[in-house]
Amino acid sequence: MRYISTRGQAPALNFEDVLLAGLATDGGLYVPENLPRFTVEEIASWSGLPYHELAFKVMRPFVTGSIPDADFKQILEDTYGVFAHSAVAPLRQLNGNEWVLELFHGPTLAFKDFALQLLGRLLDYVLAKRGERVVIIGATSGDTGSAAIEGCRRCDNVDIFILHPHNRVSEVQRRQMTTIFGDNIHNIAIEGNFDDCQEMVKDSFADQSFLKGTRLVAVNSINWARIMAQIVYYFHAALQLGGPARSVAFSVPTGNFGDIFAGYLARNMGLPISQLVVATNRNDILHRFMSGNRYDKDTLHPSLSPSMDIMVSSNFERLLFDLHGRNGAAVAELMKTFKSSGKLSVEDERWTEARKLFDSLAVGDEQTCKTIAEVFTATGELLDPHTAIGVYAARECRRSLSTPMVTLATAHPVKFPEAVEKAGVGKALELPAHLADLFERPERCTVLANDLKAMQTFVGEHGNRGKPL
Ligand SMILES: *Cc1c(COP(=O)(O)O)cnc(C)c1O
Repeated sequence: MRYISTRGQAPALNFEDVLLAGLATDGGLYVPENLPRFTVEEIASWSGLPYHELAFKVMRPFVTGSIPDADFKQILEDTYGVFAHSAVAPLRQLNGNEWVLELFHGPTLAFKDFALQLLGRLLDYVLAKRGERVVIIGATSGDTGSAAIEGCRRCDNVDIFILHPHNRVSEVQRRQMTTIFGDNIHNIAIEGNFDDCQEMVKDSFADQSFLKGTRLVAVNSINWARIMAQIVYYFHAALQLGGPARSVAFSVPTGNFGDIFAGYLARNMGLPISQLVVATNRNDILHRFMSGNRYDKDTLHPSLSPSMDIMVSSNFERLLFDLHGRNGAAVAELMKTFKSSGKLSVEDERWTEARKLFDSLAVGDEQTCKTIAEVFTATGELLDPHTAIGVYAARECRRSLSTPMVTLATAHPVKFPEAVEKAGVGKALELPAHLADLFERPERCTVLANDLKAMQTFVGEHGNRGKPL
């Protein structure tokens, strides 16, 4: 399988190189040159497979030529073997033909484990084969950091540095990062906000001389392997609900358009998906595009669903590429306009094309809390605020009552106690067994000034399993 850039000017890469790449050299994002397509019969024959075996069927075409089958199977068995639920991604019924897909049974209690547990293992496999080491520097406002650290903690060939804004992530989220020790794991609290952290990561990719030749790898959702891993659970859910003989609809709490883009790919690979609901919080740039063809940058609005607090949506460019007939020059032009004006819209026919599949809704904090309370009262299921946004949007945007509607439950409610308390739900939030002593564990973290050079010096001094590069 070869991968090409959404801006059409960077060299095509194989899976291994795309795994180790950040942005393409032309500023674009990598996508498969040809998407694999499965027949209905083929998909139907996967019914009843354990999650890791289904994962092998779905992802195999993406890695052929880079990872032998037997090795890939083993990696997938190891990856999904660490999940706390034997179904890995169990479905729960809320109402007639209405479901949530629980994606929070991984080590850090959010769906990001599906991709980052795999990414860590794939990186280590490929790097061992090449005899190379890499450095990861990532910025987090919460979920990504802990999932990336958990995913890489046992990697022999990866040193990971996660920057979070000092005193601005929740205690659960901070402790999920800082209580994991290892000489290749480095938590850095930056005396600044999330944007400052993200800016440092971007600047570090732009000029990597401080790494003395060691390669820098991206762990945010621009990394293709993350999207790839997320395609699998759409197949898994549909197969439980009568697919592929019957179509299924999904509602996806979205920020960077990564998770929902995976659903879009699942459909293009042959899975009958009749509708995808883009569910955002007040940070609604995607809703503004889907409802009115206006992808306009706004200021940041902090919300009770912080993992979707974004101003621009980094994977949206991958959809734009398809909407423009995979014309890289057209996408490059659009992104140039967006960069200079902060605004973008597409031709009518292209927007209408997108609307055939996607609906959208922006949901505020008040409605989020109301939904948490309502669903808890009616069903006993406690939703996290991101999932609540998905459920509310699913109910508002649903096109058919006879088609199963599945909302992706992206996080465990215990990660977001503030929203659950505001919802007035009288249920004590308990950490799952493997995290029960989280608040007693010692923490390790370095506080640094909001200063690029200071951060890069720290990486240089610790980037080789705690020793200098
Ligand atoms: C990251 C995250 C999201 C948003 O996912 P995208 O791929 O950016 O759309 C939603 N909910 C939770 C809990 C998350 O951690």
